[in-house]
Amino acid sequence: MFQKILIANRGEIACRIIRTARRMGIATVAVYSDADAHALHVEMADEAVRIGAAPVGESYLVADNIIEAARMRGAEAIHPGYGFLSENPDFVDKVVAAGLTFIGPSAASIRAMGLKDAAKRLMEKAGVPVVPGYHGEAQDIVLLASKAREIGYPVLIKARAGGGGKGMRRVDNPDDFAEALSGARREAKAAFGDDRVLVEKYVDKPRHIEVQVFGDDFGNVVHLYERDCSAQRRHQKVIEEAPAPGMTAELRAAMTEAAVTAAQAIAYSGAGTIEFIVDASEGLKPDRFWFMEMNTRLQVEHPVTEMVTGLDLVEWQLRVAAGQRLPLTQDQIALNGHAFEARLYAEDAAKGFLPATGTLHHLRFPAITPAGAEIRVETGVREGDAISPYYDPMIAKLVAHGPDRAAALAALSSMLAQTEVAGSTVNTAFLAALATDADFAAGDVDTGLIGRKQQALTAVPAPGAGVIAAAALAASGAEDGPVSDDPWAALAGYAHFHAVPKRVMLKFGGEELAARVSVEEGRWLVAPGTNATLSPSSVGAAPHPYPLPTNGERGAPASAPASFSPFAGRRYRQGDEGQRQPNTGSNLPSLARWPGHITVFDGAISYTFAVPDPLASADEAGGGTGSLRAPMPGLVKVVRAAVGERVAKGQPLLILEAMKMEHTIAAPHDGIVAEIATEGAQVSDGTVLVRFAEEAGD
Ligand code: ADP
Ligand code: ADP
Ligand code: MG
Repeated sequence: MFQKILIANRGEIACRIIRTARRMGIATVAVYSDADAHALHVEMADEAVRIGAAPVGESYLVADNIIEAARMRGAEAIHPGYGFLSENPDFVDKVVAAGLTFIGPSAASIRAMGLKDAAKRLMEKAGVPVVPGYHGEAQDIVLLASKAREIGYPVLIKARAGGGGKGMRRVDNPDDFAEALSGARREAKAAFGDDRVLVEKYVDKPRHIEVQVFGDDFGNVVHLYERDCSAQRRHQKVIEEAPAPGMTAELRAAMTEAAVTAAQAIAYSGAGTIEFIVDASEGLKPDRFWFMEMNTRLQVEHPVTEMVTGLDLVEWQLRVAAGQRLPLTQDQIALNGHAFEARLYAEDAAKGFLPATGTLHHLRFPAITPAGAEIRVETGVREGDAISPYYDPMIAKLVAHGPDRAAALAALSSMLAQTEVAGSTVNTAFLAALATDADFAAGDVDTGLIGRKQQALTAVPAPGAGVIAAAALAASGAEDGPVSDDPWAALAGYAHFHAVPKRVMLKFGGEELAARVSVEEGRWLVAPGTNATLSPSSVGAAPHPYPLPTNGERGAPASAPASFSPFAGRRYRQGDEGQRQPNTGSNLPSLARWPGHITVFDGAISYTFAVPDPLASADEAGGGTGSLRAPMPGLVKVVRAAVGERVAKGQPLLILEAMKMEHTIAAPHDGIVAEIATEGAQVSDGTVLVRFAEEAGD
């Protein structure tokens, strides 16, 4: 076995590989870009080497730097993870030429499967069923259009070099073919530098079912059963599971046999996945599945296979790469229970799954395992880390296992409800809505399910009175009293400072909300009010929800009483370490405070309120002094002013890069710069970028 390996990746997969290597007594070398200098994978590894600047083209994709790092540190092998260089045969050639071992298949195997058209031709020869369609060399539009007609609409145009759902267009009728083709070609050219396409029959009620395979250098190939990844948005996986719901013995036998045949056809060694598309329009039939592509690497969703087989796939990869035989034979690999994986992303589901960035000011992963289940969180970030625009915005993979599908799904829902993220927009609520969708829960999933129900699945219900009251309570400073385990003491402290009702202002989705917080008879009381007049408190009775725009259909506003008993409640302190406690007896929801904001967690749904900073608004009114805050999370790309410099209103002070676009931040008024953000800093929404000096009489 290897003594030391280098991991040519970042994030959760780098951390995942380090854990197994450590358990096996193998030392690890991490690589990192400038943006990742303090990342978790760097901290976890035994050693770390800087390989370049933040953009992937200058770091994680620079083969020579990575190989040089491995040689310099005496690593014998390189694990590529997924993405980046993992399916790049030229990289494998270079690794081997440098006298190192690539932890993965041979360059020849990767080349054989690298292009979808060539892979399909190869599979056809090997007797594996392939999606009906055209996968030839000739590419002129007349030919492609006539092939589409022969295949029969709807068809799917696919980039042969495609991946991650890019360069793909569904075409429903011949009139749209030309335009769809040029769109697919453009996207393919930009993403892969190769605009060749194939045309496939668009399968009816498609289900994506894939088989995990493993080979070794002695010609052995086994399968580790299937995964269902039909829950997709824009051809990208959202929640994966194993085994596939409704799988029949006949179909499983046919699919796993085809997968093993496919791997054998290319003398495959290591972990691989054969992806099939299944026509489920008339149930699962053994003659209705077709090869789509092979991913010659460890898959993002490999944990669900680990959960149902009890095996460590990274350990198997390391053993096989070190020249060992597969640890088990086919009949020793059993399937046990059911597992789900949900991909927690920094993205705005309601805005078409727009990727988001930001600092994870508050991050809590599930701590409570539902009875009979097993849970696992795969992540590469910790509280305080930033989701930058440079890399995939995945925050974590939440994995749940149970004795059956219903138990595993309930455990996944529980995990989602226990997950708390503040500082970036996340898809937790969307994942939870999908997990509880009636069709999904019934196992009636096809790749179009999310698209058909997108509105309902991504709708955000308006915050209920209880949520708003909790935010108002936090904004009032109720949490800033002396910290004590004795609720009486805590209350006394609060009451001492807030004997008179305190007025607070919040902003939610552009709406201003006012509330009055007081302490009466041992309870915090929050009464709604407006800017102009504070309505008399309707203490004790269920208050009316605040007049918020309802921009969703899911969930009615909660009618939780807007008063909290401090006696049963847990006090939340900023920087509170440790896991979330069960909310015993208290109706105070969990919440997080971060610069300029309060986020309240209501199950898997989070509500973020902006807390206008009274100082900041005074500054704006006051002219010469004050501070300038980041309007959105981003990267400080360029700083154009220095501390002590006198700047004029409108003068560009810095350039903030957010969502791959540059935004110039100009001086709001004349003044002297007292503090300014540093170039290269990742900042969150609301972070002070520039502070102006006090100027008497200015
Ligand atoms: P999977 O079926 O495992 O999800 P994908 O082809 O969608 O496979 O890609 C796997 C992961 O690798 C994705 O989550 C994506 O973020 C990442 N990835 C894919 N291509 C690249 C790339 N060129 N550079 C960096 N990461 C990539
Ligand atoms: P990528 O390399 O981008 O992962 P795939 O060929 O694996 O490309 O296709 C991605 C997704 O597109 C599949 O998981 C499936 O949902 C959908 N898809 C692919 N081919 C077809 C098809 N012929 N009919 C219907 N849906 C398809
Ligand atoms: Mg695929």
